[in-house]
Amino acid sequence: MRSSPAGDPPLALDTPIGDEVKDTTCYMCACRCGIKVHLKGGGIRYIEGNRDHPVNRGVLCAKGAAGIMQHYSPARLRRPLRRIGPRGSGEFREIDWSEALDTATEWLGAIRRSDPKKLAFFTGRDQSQALTSWWATQFGTPNYAAHGGFCTVNLAAAGFYTIGGSFWEFGEPDWQLTRYFLLFGVAEDHDSNPIKIGLGRLKARGVKIVSVNPVRTGYSAIADDWLGIRPGTDGLLVLALVHELLRAGKVDAPYLARYTNAPWLVIDDPGAPDHGLFARGADGEPLIRDRRDGRILSAKDPAGDPDLKTEARLADGRRARPVFRLIAERYRDPRYAPAQAERETGIPAARIRRLAAELAHAAFAEAVVIEQAWTDWAGRVHPRMVGRPVSMHAMRGISAHSNGFHTGRAIHLLQILLGSIDTPGGFRFQPPYPKPIPTPPKPAGRAREVAPGLTLAGAPLGFPTGPEDLLVEPDGRPSRIDKAFSWEAPLAAHGLFQLVIHNAANGDPYPIDTLFLYMANASWNTAMNPAGTMAMLAAQDPSTGEYRIPHIIYSDAYASEMVAFADLILPDTTYLERWDCISLLDRPISDADAAADAIRQPVLAPDRDVRPFQDVLIELGARLELPGLVHAGGAPRYRGLYADYIVNHERGPGIGSLAGWRGAAGDRHGVGAPNPRQLDAYLAHGCVWRHEIPASARYFKHANRDYLAWAVGMGFLVKPEPVVLELYSETLQRFRLAAEGHGPVQPPDQHRRRIATYFDPLPIWYPPFEGASDDADFPLHAVTQRPMAMYHSWGSQNAWLRQIHGENCLFLHRDLAAAHGIADGDWLKVTSRHGAITVQARPMDGVNRDTVWTWNAIGKRAGAWNLAPDAAEAKRGFLLNHLIAELLPARQDGFRYANADPVTGQAAWFDLRVRIEKVAAASETAPQFAPQALPPGLPERQRVLRYGAEFRAASGR
Ligand code: SF4
Repeated sequence: MRSSPAGDPPLALDTPIGDEVKDTTCYMCACRCGIKVHLKGGGIRYIEGNRDHPVNRGVLCAKGAAGIMQHYSPARLRRPLRRIGPRGSGEFREIDWSEALDTATEWLGAIRRSDPKKLAFFTGRDQSQALTSWWATQFGTPNYAAHGGFCTVNLAAAGFYTIGGSFWEFGEPDWQLTRYFLLFGVAEDHDSNPIKIGLGRLKARGVKIVSVNPVRTGYSAIADDWLGIRPGTDGLLVLALVHELLRAGKVDAPYLARYTNAPWLVIDDPGAPDHGLFARGADGEPLIRDRRDGRILSAKDPAGDPDLKTEARLADGRRARPVFRLIAERYRDPRYAPAQAERETGIPAARIRRLAAELAHAAFAEAVVIEQAWTDWAGRVHPRMVGRPVSMHAMRGISAHSNGFHTGRAIHLLQILLGSIDTPGGFRFQPPYPKPIPTPPKPAGRAREVAPGLTLAGAPLGFPTGPEDLLVEPDGRPSRIDKAFSWEAPLAAHGLFQLVIHNAANGDPYPIDTLFLYMANASWNTAMNPAGTMAMLAAQDPSTGEYRIPHIIYSDAYASEMVAFADLILPDTTYLERWDCISLLDRPISDADAAADAIRQPVLAPDRDVRPFQDVLIELGARLELPGLVHAGGAPRYRGLYADYIVNHERGPGIGSLAGWRGAAGDRHGVGAPNPRQLDAYLAHGCVWRHEIPASARYFKHANRDYLAWAVGMGFLVKPEPVVLELYSETLQRFRLAAEGHGPVQPPDQHRRRIATYFDPLPIWYPPFEGASDDADFPLHAVTQRPMAMYHSWGSQNAWLRQIHGENCLFLHRDLAAAHGIADGDWLKVTSRHGAITVQARPMDGVNRDTVWTWNAIGKRAGAWNLAPDAAEAKRGFLLNHLIAELLPARQDGFRYANADPVTGQAAWFDLRVRIEKVAAASETAPQFAPQALPPGLPERQRVLRYGAEFRAASGR
């Protein structure tokens, strides 16, 4: 009992606030924190962070606490729906699940019996991609992807092709030991609580935090040093740092020699079909030059003393040079000097030099040592672990550019040169990473692999190792509807969600029958060009009157903008009403010292006629008799639906959705037979499993014999082979050679130049495609930032969170505003090559002078989400999406590439260039669209939403 201000009753802190507490996992953003849901009288009383959970250790953010209003949202769909009016009208009739599943089975069954690729199955930021991608494989369609193509695939692909891992879900800074922390383009939802906790630890230790971001909000606001860089130029800044480090000789040569491909010899024979590939011995292993006697040895020879600098003569008489020498020759060139970088980045050369010097000082003058012996892959015993305490984190800000893949590679190059990958104080892998480079599997789904009734030979998404792995037909045409893994986006590891509607509506490269979407607000938030996207979703063939996309099935928990464009709605539950798993087969929640996974349990039973999408998918799979979902006789394999699948599905022998408490007795971890009581074990442990890495295996994981053995034992790796960090990418060079006319699989002529240009085996920087920095018509960059209190379009309908951000303005630098005579609250017309919007201005200081920005995902279409048609989000909120086209302007021959990175196909949201002009005051933002009709069955929205008063009344307070 604690005393309180006079007049108020005393606070009873030790009195239970509910009847029951249930553990589960938050889903208000992608961090997957552990939560405790306090229940009272059958309702949610309170959500609390789970102090014993490894992800958040009790921390709960505003979004997590507001999960209550997500669960009780008036926008929740209540029953399955069938469209009865024209697409987009929002006219539906309620149907029962029997009709809904019969309809879906009929549509999908017809496709599977005729041509499985006519199903395009795409999901948003769902957390069951291990299931959804496997389901697509069983169905036999290559046309599957999740949200990565419009999110951060550039960084993921750059990481997987360079270090065998990536930022955030795949690795983390060594929060405990790092002494210098560099952040690139991070918005506050990627990641959220874990990075906030980490930043707090750095602040407590006085560690210097440097943020590179055009906008100084969120994490940048607490940085010790903020570099307000011009958008899309981060790669050049990083390569200027590399230039400075090389010039000063501040690189970790022993690390490079032992754990990277820096000493590997690259064939120097211009015009030959193997020019630029690694020289290899008879056993196929790359070769090095021994620095002691000049002998050519296998890179795997543990006795070798690799030479990083000297050119070698191969047995066939040809020249070969070590990768490091190529790096030194390229980046010591004056074009990477800070003075050159200053012109593009806007960061003064002196500041770039200072940053390089600080990085070098932290790495080499403040090296940290852990008194822990370890053994490397070659059997060399190291008495202690010596680390370079410089760590980095990067996210969508640098990723969502047409040069983002190479920028990601450049950041990893910088980390590797400093010797800071998985060393004490550096960037640390989280198991099951690192994985081999390139990371298996390769994508499956060429036309000849797709046939009625067949499963795909492998997963639809993967990592090509060369042109032979592309999903293209013999004439070079893309095999997939989104053109992923084609010559237009060869390393599209996450697919190109942003193109599926455009391509399907245009029958390019072929028409489809059914677009099946889950949890993706594809007509609005995730759409480049929302107006055009809505028109495409409703487009009809004039000769037949049929919709160009004949069927659209959509599953969502809420009445989002996309709902109006679907023919069949399968209403999902909220995250508090279902079983779910956060699997190591998907995006892990491990930390650098342990593997971890988790579950969600149904905290409440649905009070509506809705079903978990994962259950529905499994039932549909059984009805369609997809091979993995039925027994030999056709009986459903997972009668207990998703919970049954989570426990009993095996991806390989002994490897399932959850790694904890496996084996018949529940005493195995990582690999083991299914355990029928596995979910009980998770419930007994707060819904989370964490398994620690042995002390001798916690660093140098890519080369640490104990770690590699542990990872094999856990089922994370097939063989205990070292993961050699790839400064130089032979994969990229193979594509370049194909473009130059070598090999059996070559690009069509129209793509050759582009492939040869952008598939450089070493990181490059080039200006973002949408405009050079002196573009006179559109002189400003425009980007978005994710507010800390929001996550995608979910957040801006949440009754509590919309009180934090209910509308948005266009932020611009005070000097820029003054130059245009713009004052706070003035109205602006913002014009891009693609369109124009009208919004309100808000001058500020902490932004690059050539950049305007706004919060992401606030603007809503009037009427959607069961918000009042005149809600602030609709009338005063807006999206920059209306200014962005999904395709680049036409080339001379009329061909149009995606507005995307040429390597991965990542949507280039942040390449956007605009101009601004002051206009007369307006009462609402533009464009506005006709208010969207509300689906039937939703409750009438009250003007004021209240929650919790009943508990207060019951307690007499
Ligand atoms: S950071 Fe994300 S997962 Fe964690 S409590 Fe906040 S919303 Fe939930």
